[in-house]
Amino acid sequence: MKSAQYIREVPQRYRLEAGKCTGCGKLHFPPRLVCDGCGSREFEAATLPRQGTLLTWTVIHAAPPQFSLETPYVVGIVELDGGVRLTCQVADCDPEELAVGAPVELVFRRIKEDNAADIIQYGYKAVLRRE
Ligand SMILES: [Zn+2]
Repeated sequence: MKSAQYIREVPQRYRLEAGKCTGCGKLHFPPRLVCDGCGSREFEAATLPRQGTLLTWTVIHAAPPQFSLETPYVVGIVELDGGVRLTCQVADCDPEELAVGAPVELVFRRIKEDNAADIIQYGYKAVLRRE
């Protein structure tokens, strides 16, 4: 990843910043240029809730080279409170304990190092909420 692209994505990666349509209120994550709800091009920044539920997941055994040392790991689709869905790694879990609808929250973690650009990337991962 080029460093300029990385810097551009920092608000999403680090602050879970979504684009909230000022026309209809729909949240878009990642932010987009045109609302698919009403066609508006006007957005304001909105921070996504960190809590949600696990919709589905898969265990990755054969990963791209930059993640090969982490296998096996879990990638899931999370629906945050409010309805935004995103794909992310599900960390600190045994896949056997995962369930559809399990409560999760997003935490901030190291994602990978990009040695070519000399960047350590951070971002969000989901973990199970254990009450
Ligand atoms: Zn809209």
